[in-house]
Amino acid sequence: MPTLRLIFCYLCIEFSETFESMQTILQNPQLSAPLRRIAEKVYASERINFDEGVLLYEHADLGFLGTLANFVRERKHGHKTYFNRNFHIEPTNLCVYTCKFCSYSRLIKQREEGWILSADEMMNIVRSYDDKPVTEVHIVGGVLPQMNLAFFTDLLRRIKAHRPELHIKGFTAVEYYYLFKKAKVSYREGLILLREAGLDSIPGGGAEIFDEGIRAIICNDKCTGHQWLDIHETAHNLGIQSNATILYGHIETYQHRIDHLNRLRELQDRTGGFNCFIPLKFRRENNEMSHIPEVSVTEDLRNYAVSRIYLDNFAHIKAYWPMIGRSTAQLSLSFGVDDIDGTIDDTTKIYSMAVPRNNAPH
Ligand code: SF4
Repeated sequence: MPTLRLIFCYLCIEFSETFESMQTILQNPQLSAPLRRIAEKVYASERINFDEGVLLYEHADLGFLGTLANFVRERKHGHKTYFNRNFHIEPTNLCVYTCKFCSYSRLIKQREEGWILSADEMMNIVRSYDDKPVTEVHIVGGVLPQMNLAFFTDLLRRIKAHRPELHIKGFTAVEYYYLFKKAKVSYREGLILLREAGLDSIPGGGAEIFDEGIRAIICNDKCTGHQWLDIHETAHNLGIQSNATILYGHIETYQHRIDHLNRLRELQDRTGGFNCFIPLKFRRENNEMSHIPEVSVTEDLRNYAVSRIYLDNFAHIKAYWPMIGRSTAQLSLSFGVDDIDGTIDDTTKIYSMAVPRNNAPH
């Protein structure tokens, strides 16, 4: 028992530093009334509203945002940071869609620049991890007609037959929308088929920005924001957990970002099915939006912090380290982030083709 008591006291001391930082903010006579009201709400575990979210983006400085976000992060998780041991399988980088920010995909007519893995090749990737302590395989890629629902249910069955305990996090809502439409099944019917085949959870890609106007400009031909949200809601109602993302730092405004967070927060209120929120930074290499400058690391940290403060009903905020680099990922841990994704083991090409490392499938 002494050991336990010691650990408990240690945690209290560490949280008390965060508590003192909040007190300093609250007692700062130069703080504007609206920002003080937000700090008081965060301190009291009250939810901030849409206008307050926009105000944070427009008027709060980095120190203020970091203090509030870290306060929320430590109240939820202390100093714990989460990661998992995983690897990716990207079945193809050919895609029927034409998202302007995507550096990863190639159109079918450019097939010589891309790849299509067979089910056997993907099983060889799974087998190559047989002697490694991985717990999750993350499957995501471009959208192709021949990679249909029957193809993927068969693949999931083979993976589970080979390694039953491996968690399969697979396919974004963009892929599901296409798969289910082609197979002429409802979201619910398709998700039940995939769950029976071995699907455990759903990644958060493809959300981009829900605002219809921005979506029409940057990714006009894939599923809408409403369809993305409907697919995740259907999954949650079946007991399948999922993650959510935002693609930020291109042509969207702060209002669009808060609108996006708000739609996620409302869905989470209804279902509780989201696990992580993952902000994804727009990268400009090798895509049709290369004329748009990338936002700074400071803006990345501000965005993590506002996300942590606004999404009070999300357990985790994740920094996807292959996209932002290890140093920024480390820094983000003081700005609301508590999860740095997986070991990944260099198995993803999604960002390595755009940043030198961009933008995701979906
Ligand atoms: S982002 Fe996804 S859906 Fe869009 S073109 Fe790239 S791979 Fe296809």
